[in-house]
Amino acid sequence: MAAKQIAGRKAAKNTRISSKSTSGKSDGKRSKASASEASSDLFDMACARVVDAAERASIDADAIATLRYPKETLAANLLLRRDDGTLETVKAWRCRYSDALGPTKGGLRIHPDTCMREVMALALWMTCKCALVDLPFGGAKGGIAFDAKSHSPMERQRLMHAYVQAFRGMVGPDRDIPAPDVGTGPREMAWFADAYAQWVGHPEPGVVTGKPVANGGSEGRSGATGQGGFHVLSVLSQRLGLEPKDTRVAILGFGNAGSELAKHLRDAGYRLVGAADSGGAVYSEDGLRLEALTEAKRRRGSVTAFRRKGVEAFEDPAELVGVDCDLLIPAALQSQIHAGNAADVKVRVVLELANGPVTPAADEILRKAGTQVVPDILANAGGVTVSYFEWLQNRSRDPWSADTVRQRLEARLEQASHAVADTAVELDCDLRQAAYVVALRRLERAIRPLAPE
Ligand code: NAD
Repeated sequence: MAAKQIAGRKAAKNTRISSKSTSGKSDGKRSKASASEASSDLFDMACARVVDAAERASIDADAIATLRYPKETLAANLLLRRDDGTLETVKAWRCRYSDALGPTKGGLRIHPDTCMREVMALALWMTCKCALVDLPFGGAKGGIAFDAKSHSPMERQRLMHAYVQAFRGMVGPDRDIPAPDVGTGPREMAWFADAYAQWVGHPEPGVVTGKPVANGGSEGRSGATGQGGFHVLSVLSQRLGLEPKDTRVAILGFGNAGSELAKHLRDAGYRLVGAADSGGAVYSEDGLRLEALTEAKRRRGSVTAFRRKGVEAFEDPAELVGVDCDLLIPAALQSQIHAGNAADVKVRVVLELANGPVTPAADEILRKAGTQVVPDILANAGGVTVSYFEWLQNRSRDPWSADTVRQRLEARLEQASHAVADTAVELDCDLRQAAYVVALRRLERAIRPLAPE
């Protein structure tokens, strides 16, 4: 392997998979900073952003008080019968944050490290996201602290049935509508709808979105988050100073949303130079061939299986944060860019496809460095937008064509992107603050008449 130095990356040699030294440890400074930030609570960080934007736009105090805590959060211990006959207890939550704008909407995350405060933060972000895109939905989220990889498909199906049994009084097509998130996809949503139908005694496809098309899902839902991120980027590209043919892209989280966005970027002439997943990262100055990269991940479970001349591989996916490129797309979990590594970021633009990937402390560092951040509540709103379309189709029993979905998604996100850009100019603020202000103004209008005297 050529001993090329990736620009902006410190102490990376020891995490290169193919280098001689493979200790696999990140440098101490980076992990220490990250740990101290990790101790600040994700939900408190989410609230701080809302309060910051509210102050900037003089949002009504009653509206902010209403949004300071979730409307309701339910915790349950699910009992899972394992294939070997033993019984496992699994912690699970559902949080309905605000229904001021309509029935609550939000994904269901399955991840070993998820917890109630994370679910609450994600539900608050969903509340702001639905308001920003002007959907008639409030925000919610669900979580199951569970390692799906070490359980069989039958066990995972039983777990989903147990989740529905525990939370079925909380969800419903006019009350709270789950969707996929990290660790869940169309199959889990089909299991969810099936378990709910068994309980109510008839099919009720509108109780959950992100289902397979054959089970009442919408055309275009599986790729909607990536497609939406692409539309947002296209609308804002002039403001962001991005010309596709001159823009090198790194995707930190090559999963459902990240890999889908990569296809749209490639088709538009952007150059993919880096990709990471939980197994590590790969980088090539000359560009990565998307089909071959996707195939390597499909066959071997990680982008690091993609080996070519000139491609460097790293054990630590976080190495991708500092690579030499123009557009960085965090698309995995929250707090990927934090106080300990934000100074390594050399790009002009960060597009937050994941929820909450840049911490407030990192935001400050990026702002000072002149890096623009396209915020999550706008950049990844394509998923919930097509979920809304799926819900409409389920209610009317009238499926739409893929073209109709695409056009309506584009129109919604175009409108939201322009609203954010215009508000940033009006208030002389960054895109994140502007996105929250657009959302909060809508929430304020709905909450004010309802606040108790
Ligand atoms: P996914 O599970 O399909 O993909 C996540 C990817 O991130 C996987 O490839 C995983 O290997 C990788 N990853 C995990 N830890 C990593 C790490 N430390 N560094 C680099 N990569 C890592 O999930 P998804 O549905 O694509 O969701 C990704 C993000 O997008 C989440 O934050 C989610 O909340 C957000 N999001 C998803 C949707 C959707 O419709 N799927 C909608 C809105 C927002």
